[in-house]
Amino acid sequence: MARMTLSTKPRVGFLGLGTMGAPMAANLARAGFPLVVWNRTAAKMEPLLKLGAKAGRSPAHVASEVEAVVTMVSRPDDVEQVVLGADGVIEGIQPRAVLIDMSTVSPATSRKLAGAVTTKRAEFLDAPVVGSKGPAAEGTLVILVGGLPQTLKRCEPILRAIGKTVIHAGNVGMGCALKLATNLMLGHLMAGLSEAVVLAKRCGVDPELLLKVIEGSTFPSPWYRSKGGTMLKGDFSPHFALKLMRKDFELMKQVAQELALRLPVTEVVRQLFAEAEATGKGDLDYSVIFEHLQT
Ligand code: NAP
Repeated sequence: MARMTLSTKPRVGFLGLGTMGAPMAANLARAGFPLVVWNRTAAKMEPLLKLGAKAGRSPAHVASEVEAVVTMVSRPDDVEQVVLGADGVIEGIQPRAVLIDMSTVSPATSRKLAGAVTTKRAEFLDAPVVGSKGPAAEGTLVILVGGLPQTLKRCEPILRAIGKTVIHAGNVGMGCALKLATNLMLGHLMAGLSEAVVLAKRCGVDPELLLKVIEGSTFPSPWYRSKGGTMLKGDFSPHFALKLMRKDFELMKQVAQELALRLPVTEVVRQLFAEAEATGKGDLDYSVIFEHLQT
């Protein structure tokens, strides 16, 4: 049987208007998608309502009104609560609608959500993103998708309004697996940059020279200049909160245990993020491990 396509500009529900969700939803509104939004802290819906979005009463209510529901909340437990809990998405989702979970969770959580959604004859994609607050506002995120190719095809116009690149990683859960592999690299880079700057500074070398060396090397990236720059100014205002990066390293540990993988360096970096969070720095940017290393 041919699958029904979503309308050209389907009505979209957006749940979770935090650092990432708010600008992503705003881009959908600006692209002309009729939006119904919901956020646990209701005040955060205001800027979206000014862009013409309708306020939903609950995740179930939002799901009952739309052809596609996007979730962008913090952790696996939070997504499960929003989707499977009381008044959750699952209570309202329509047959043939699609739940697109863009939060960074474990592949196992994605498979659990997909299973639940399927019982309602709806469809599921895990679609976590690479890129932080800036790319979310500019609509230049990289979106990593797990799920059926035909479901992805139906949702592509929605994803294209949020990101510049859409990569199909494979079956349900593989978007999240690719995202965890990406954040594994990012966490290692941050630990490496932080330790390198500490070493250079303590030896009396201007850390700016380190950034220049990297720029002239075979491994340059604008990321070093941007993160190194704010780090050296002592600006740890959150783009990606330390507590969320720590959560991702806990998810990597979980996957490593499930698959009996050896990730020894990742384990040390995980401990570094955990230590820094335990000193009360969880709400600051994850680059704050640089400051933590100097205490
Ligand atoms: P955030 O600013 O902390 O926002 C989290 C959002 O989730 C808020 O809307 C929050 O609602 C909602 N939420 C959390 N727990 C909930 C629950 N139990 N029930 C209902 N709503 C709940 O986080 P973020 O930076 O936007 O990150 C969102 C996701 O994207 C995370 O999985 C993160 O790992 C991932 N991510 C983040 C970045 C980044 O650079 N920030 C980049 C890529 C991926 P309230 O407003 O009520 O607290």
